[in-house]
Amino acid sequence: MFSIGRLLLFHTIDKYLYAMRFSDETLLDITKRFRAELTRGLGSDTNATASLKMLPTFVRSIPDGTEKGDFIALDLGGSAFRILRVKVSHGNKQTVQMESEVYDTPDEIMHGSGTRLFDHVAECLGNFMEKHDIKDKKLPVGFTFSFPCRQTKLDEGYLIKWTKRFKASGVEGADVVQLLNKAIEKRGDYKADIMAVVNDTVGTMMTCGFDDQRCEVGIIIGTGTNACYMEELRHIDLVEGDEGRMCVNTEWGAFGDDGSLEDIRTQFDIEIDRGSLNPGKQLFEKMVSGMYMGELVRLILVKMAREGLLFEGRITAELLTKGTLPTKLVSAIEKSKEGLIKAKEILSRLNLEPSAEDCVAVQHVCSIVSHRSTNLVAAALAGILLRLKENKGVARLKTTVGIDGSLYKMHPHYARRLHKTVRRLVPDCDVRFLLSESGSGKGAAMVTAVAYRLAEQTHE
Ligand code: BGC
Ligand code: MG
Repeated sequence: MFSIGRLLLFHTIDKYLYAMRFSDETLLDITKRFRAELTRGLGSDTNATASLKMLPTFVRSIPDGTEKGDFIALDLGGSAFRILRVKVSHGNKQTVQMESEVYDTPDEIMHGSGTRLFDHVAECLGNFMEKHDIKDKKLPVGFTFSFPCRQTKLDEGYLIKWTKRFKASGVEGADVVQLLNKAIEKRGDYKADIMAVVNDTVGTMMTCGFDDQRCEVGIIIGTGTNACYMEELRHIDLVEGDEGRMCVNTEWGAFGDDGSLEDIRTQFDIEIDRGSLNPGKQLFEKMVSGMYMGELVRLILVKMAREGLLFEGRITAELLTKGTLPTKLVSAIEKSKEGLIKAKEILSRLNLEPSAEDCVAVQHVCSIVSHRSTNLVAAALAGILLRLKENKGVARLKTTVGIDGSLYKMHPHYARRLHKTVRRLVPDCDVRFLLSESGSGKGAAMVTAVAYRLAEQTHE
């Protein structure tokens, strides 16, 4: 099927991008570094300087099946701003009914003042309640807020730092629950009871935990990337108590922010970071997630074209423009059947007049960049799995990983490659990957349901 010419072309590109291709030995070395950072993030003396912030979430168990009620879930910080109504009821078994609405969050709101951002959230919530005819009810709200937050209890979350596309002023260092409450009170046309702030990884773990009691890890590979898992409380120095477990938000997107991944970062990664909203931060995320992957490919194509390796050296204004190759196009180019046709369309739209060989070459570049992403996620996840295995003191770990995110879901080969690589890196772990079909909203409602049940009990 492959001609000699094509093999030579692949070989040239493989050599050109050798720094993005890792052996299993390198991956296992990354796993080792990740584990060391995990431990540092959990220790009271080392937490402040650790790149992994290992944030306690105050979520202590996955749903136990007794939750019920009528909830609202807000989901802010992923590829869409969503509001959901989640009804959990019991007949013979627990059932969940959901209705949801997606709202726009324009750039000027993400980058404006925090007050404006939370006014916007409160306004959308008002519209949602109006539309669903529940404005007169004071429903418990679970707030999925997909950014790093310090928590000392479930219904409080101090934003540490914005990531991804957000940079609204006056929010870093503040409690997002208070900001949202203020915005709602100012309106005065409805009431809401915010019971929990939940990272999207935690929401995902809880959503999947609803279907599989063994779920103890949650992962997002979308606009950003992150993971949470159930850690033994006795290992979490920042929270008192030794009994049982608590979910920890690793914030693995920040892995490498202390320089520990410098040997594997390329000139393209450095360029991406320089042009980002948060230079020097979220370095692992910038090598992995959907917000950056298309840009990485674009930067590589620019360099290859400059060196005459592609498009007969043609460089167009479109190719040079940031954002003209979003990650969803990388996914399209990598499709097995129509990928090359897509490549031709996409590159033609960038005015590059691609030859058949250019299309094959670009598809191969895309595959190297997306392989690197799955490899890095696999290496980090292997670190979490080995940690769980050690915590439990078992010879084989049997566990379930709840997973979600636009890149994971939309890329044609991402999921399969990730699963394969993880199983190869940690052969003594039996991992079930469970796609969170309904996003993190259901999970946020579950967290809220548990909090609500506990609050009711103490009031009785
Ligand atoms: C944020 C995490 C979030 C992840 C996925 C990262 O940029 O720091 O809190 O879980 O994106 O949405
Ligand atoms: Mg999300």
